[in-house]
Amino acid sequence: MPRFAANSLCECQAHLTAIVDEKHHVIEGTARRHGDRENAPAHSINPAQERFDIGWLCPFCGRNTLRSFHQDALHRLADVAGV
Ligand SMILES: [Zn+2]
Repeated sequence: MPRFAANSLCECQAHLTAIVDEKHHVIEGTARRHGDRENAPAHSINPAQERFDIGWLCPFCGRNTLRSFHQDALHRLADVAGV
């Protein structure tokens, strides 16, 4: 199944990444800052639409960071077989 990555930047300069499936449901959220990598709880809002939002709870600063994405702007990752 195809997997896509949505990337953004938190106010605290942490790099936020969400891995989503083709229905824009978040599979995994992560945050990186100064070489540290943490899980960042993430969820999608209105995932059925071409333009949808992803919200992260940043583990470094505690902010809820909401970003809008268009599905064409996502980075396609290598397909994952059998998932
Ligand atoms: Zn942050």
